[in-house]
Amino acid sequence: MRRSLKFLLRPTRHQEIALTACLEDHRQLYNAALEHRRTAYAKAGVSVRYGDQSAELKHIRGDDTGGQGRWSFSSQQATLRRLDKAFRAFFARVKAGRAPGFPRFKGRGWFDTVEWPKDGDGCRWDSQPEHPSATYVRLQGVGHVRVHRHRPVRGRVKTIAVKRESSRWYVVLSCDEVPVGPLPATGAVAGIDMGVASLVTTSDGVQVANPRHLAATAGRLADAQRDLAGKRRGSRRRRKAVARVAALHGKVRRQRLDHAHKAANVLVGAYDVIVHEDLRITNMTRSASGTIEAPGRNVAQKSGLNRSILDAGWGVFLTILSHKAESAGRKLIAVNPAGTSRTCSRCAHVAKENRLTQAEFRCVSCGHAAHADVNAAVNILRAGLALRQAAEAA
Ligand SMILES: [Zn+2]
Repeated sequence: MRRSLKFLLRPTRHQEIALTACLEDHRQLYNAALEHRRTAYAKAGVSVRYGDQSAELKHIRGDDTGGQGRWSFSSQQATLRRLDKAFRAFFARVKAGRAPGFPRFKGRGWFDTVEWPKDGDGCRWDSQPEHPSATYVRLQGVGHVRVHRHRPVRGRVKTIAVKRESSRWYVVLSCDEVPVGPLPATGAVAGIDMGVASLVTTSDGVQVANPRHLAATAGRLADAQRDLAGKRRGSRRRRKAVARVAALHGKVRRQRLDHAHKAANVLVGAYDVIVHEDLRITNMTRSASGTIEAPGRNVAQKSGLNRSILDAGWGVFLTILSHKAESAGRKLIAVNPAGTSRTCSRCAHVAKENRLTQAEFRCVSCGHAAHADVNAAVNILRAGLALRQAAEAA
């Protein structure tokens, strides 16, 4: 099993300067290689290939020992491969008859990652293993950079990447052969309903609320984006507003991830089988029908944008849940969510009138009353168990 792990870096001032230079040189390499391909194609109708550019890289490094020559040959090759991939995708779109966008030059701020394709080649994870309390990653041309390793790394480190997000630096490890540690069976199964006020509600009535601070940050982000829209292009105020939006985006992302990890841990610890809505269908039906249910009272409904910021957490949550479920030996089942919020979980009567308010469900046929999200979660569970039974019978 393959898994990626992301840790905050704590570079020294000097290392931060070197990291910035490393990223910038890789960006310039990318742009130069793109320019090379464009002119060769425009002037001579020749398509330049990855192999050609990789061979040329040797000369570039030799001629520029204090610049491009400082960095790892492998990370530079990875950058050229990234361009090659962009071109392949471009030609595939041409071939498919779609209107393709030509691969673009990367401006400052649009190139934020450098990858080393193999641990030990121009980079080394845990480069000072004898250090009693800290973890380091060595990057060629940068040095041993301290890592805030907030959780253990299991399995074998395959690739190492450095990523800049606003003013922070991260290292992203991709690990192979991560041991799977199944949790003991609990004998419990659950359906989960995903919402806005509560990120998840389980069929046995447990609610994991979206934290208030996430809603608050989402609200501030919505404000900041509106503020940005009113700023003149190229102005100093606009640059400031852009930086603020980026910082808030980062904050939302971190809060959401943190919360998703916690919620997924709760579920994976408690249930052997977890049934959830198929998000592709959920998103489609909710936006197409235009009947986006109003969020609960806990969440400031400032704008559609605020809502969508909270909604976007579902995908992150499900991704994390599926990783945790896999390593714990739990089973996840995705079901079509159509009708789950209008159907009575006791008598199966379907009516839009069953749903009195956002939170309240009362069946007009049998009188069954429940929290609307719990009722939906029970329906989701039932659909999932039926699917599983059908699969076992087949
Ligand atoms: Zn009923």
